[in-house]
Order: sequence, then structure tokens, then C-alpha cells
Amino acid sequence: MTTIKSLQCRECKKEYAPTFKYICDECFGPLDVHYDFPSVNKNTFANREHTYWRYFELLPIAEKSNIVSIGAGMTPLIKAEKLGEALGLNNLYIKNDSVNPTFSFKDRPAGIAVSKAKEFGLSAVGCASTGNLASATAAHAAKGGFPCYVFAPSDIEHAKITQALAYGANFIAVDGTYDDANRIAAQIGDSKGIGIVNINMRSYYVEGSKTLAFEVAEQLDWQVPDNLVIPVGSGAMLNAICKGFEELESLSLLGKVSNMHMIAAQPRGCAPIVDAFKKNSSDVIPVESPDTIAKSLAIGDPGDGRYVLKRLKQYNGYAEESSNREILDAILLLARTEGIFTEPAGGVSVAVLKKMVEERKIDKNDSTVCYVTGNGLKATEVLMEILSKPQTMQADIAKISAMVR
Ligand SMILES: *Cc1c(COP(=O)(O)O)cnc(C)c1O
Ligand SMILES: [Zn+2]
Repeated sequence: MTTIKSLQCRECKKEYAPTFKYICDECFGPLDVHYDFPSVNKNTFANREHTYWRYFELLPIAEKSNIVSIGAGMTPLIKAEKLGEALGLNNLYIKNDSVNPTFSFKDRPAGIAVSKAKEFGLSAVGCASTGNLASATAAHAAKGGFPCYVFAPSDIEHAKITQALAYGANFIAVDGTYDDANRIAAQIGDSKGIGIVNINMRSYYVEGSKTLAFEVAEQLDWQVPDNLVIPVGSGAMLNAICKGFEELESLSLLGKVSNMHMIAAQPRGCAPIVDAFKKNSSDVIPVESPDTIAKSLAIGDPGDGRYVLKRLKQYNGYAEESSNREILDAILLLARTEGIFTEPAGGVSVAVLKKMVEERKIDKNDSTVCYVTGNGLKATEVLMEILSKPQTMQADIAKISAMVR
């Protein structure tokens, strides 16, 4: 059994019982899960199932019977020799989270939140989504037997809408931005008692993403990487990855994590955290109308933006952006060197990684982990704008044979 000690306010540190609650009564700060961890060692996890539930003792679900799992996690950490060679890095890894069951890393936080909804006995779940969380929540809701309500901007990719509908979600396509959808989801969640995974269940939700730290640490044979390149929308994932590494250090599963460098990657057109970082400001000024092909990162008012800036300071990090063209080029570079096809969010990571190397902010012998968080099949439209559609040929061997050298 996992023992949660409390929910603790990230700002004023006030502690609360671990209930269906997410905001501090005193200061409105976000609440984080704190644990009384049992004693674990490297062998505890060694022969377990190949999903993130292998770290059950470190996750915020009390009873194993409440787990709602579709088999997510334990995705490959690829030694990216060819991409490394192209960029000039000797020790590059890709965490390929595009191969999760719903094809993005969102299966991690969604699975934890839906399991917690089961533990709380809630009757329905939902989310505010830029696209990928819709499918991740809907799939886990289907598996757990919950009705699911998705609130998302109407202009997200077709494949993402189709996928969420296929799992049976009620899809509310909002004519507006992600921030509009988020506001509506928050009010409906509170008034109807629905577990909105990334809003009123956020304290538990974010715990899923810290498994991106646990897996990388285990896959590197419990070594701390030097650099981590992380795509950032709300900033919840970057923050959770830091928390994950810190928990492993506190459990003596890892050495000192304070020398890691966290690199936040955002798309130009929706890069409020990069803007603040470059101005050396601790205030994130919201982007009113995000404009980027990286729709899963199109969050103009990032909930964890301030905390990402703190993490970048704490971990000697950087924040950098990439243009639409750089994103598309990076998608093709990754696909053509490593055989990994990512959506624009993953292109943002690779494009920013490339910039960091060019600006000599990453040493070529450092161990560097680049997180690729979503699958290319979810966003093919934008890519076809720069690829040429094959011309249809008559089924004639002679003519076609002339095309093959
Ligand atoms: C949601 C999402 C992100 C950003 O995660 P945050 O926790 O919002 O920062 C990155 N990549 C993909 C593919 C996503 O769907
Ligand atoms: Zn507080």
C-alpha cells in the first residue's frame, strides 16, 4: 500500500488531508502530494510489469484494486546514435513516449487521475485538452467504466478528435482557445462534481508524469543524466520530472540530481515561458492568441509557468523556442535518422536540442535525454505541406521501373 502523507501547498506549505482537493484555502497555491515512502531499492522494481505501474509504491493510489491501466509507460529509451551524429552529440538518448497506448505521454497523468477518481468514488471524469489528453482520459475512462467529458478548442487536429470520439468521450469542441476550454471545464467540474483530471484532480494527475523521470533513471541504470530537453505547454510535465528525480534522490536510488540541466522547449507563437526566461523575469505574460503548428503546446496561460521558471533557475536550465519551419525540419530529421515519427511537440524538443548544441549550451560528451512525447500519426496535415504527395502511376512495370535506381 502507498501512504500519502498529505497534500502540501507549493506556496505557503500548509498541509491538507489527501482528499478531492487541489487549491490551498489560505493562498490559492497548488497542492502537491507528499508521501511516507516505504523502503525501496533498485531490486524492488527490477522484475515488474513493463508499465509505469511498476513504481506503484511511489504513486498516489492507495489500493492496487483501484488501478485503471491500459498498459502505458516503460516506453523505449533509445540511444540515438544517428541523430547524435547529425547534431554532434556522443551521448544522446530519445525517450520515445510516442508509443504509449494512446500515442502520447498523457497516458501517464491521465491514468493516475482516472485511477484516483475510482479511489474517490467519483461518477464521471473529464479534461481540458489541447488534443492528446482527450484521448488519454477517454481511453482510461472507457477502461474504468466512467463517462468522460472532453473540453478542447475546436481547431485541434482531426486525428485527435476522431481518436477521443472512438473511445466514447463526450467531446465539447469549444470555439476559442485552450484557455477558454479550460475555464469552462473548471466551472463545470466544480459545479457537477466531475473529476477533471488536469484541473480539480491536478495534484494527483501530475504525479503520473514523474514516471518519465523514474523510467529514464532506471533505463540509464540509475545514473543521473546531464541534460533533459522537455517540451512545455502548461509546464506540469517539466515540473513533475524534476519532482520525480528529487524523490529518487531522497530514496537513495540516485546520486545528486542538482547538477542536471533542465531545458524547456516551446514553439514560437506560444512561448510565454521562453519570453519570461529571456527577459529574466519571473512573470509569465499570457499569449492571448497562440499561433503555432504545435497545437499540443498551444497553452497561452500556462498553469505551471512560474514554477517552470523556478525549476530552470534551480537546475541551471535554459528555455528556447523553435519556429514552425524548424519544427517540421526537426520532425523529418528525427524520422530520417532514428525511424521515430513524432508530432510537432516532439519536433519542438528536437529543434531546441539542435539550437542548444549549436549555441554550445550542451557539451558533446554530456548525457542528454530528449523527450519525444507524441506520435506523428496524430498530426499528419501540417507535415504534408512540406512533403510532396506521391504522383499516382499507371500499374505499368516498365514506367515504374524507370523510377527506381
Ligand atoms: C500536453 C503535451 C505536452 C506538454 O505538457 P505540459 O504538462 O502541458 O507542459 C508536451 N507534449 C505533448 C505531446 C503533449 O500532448
Ligand atoms: Zn497556501
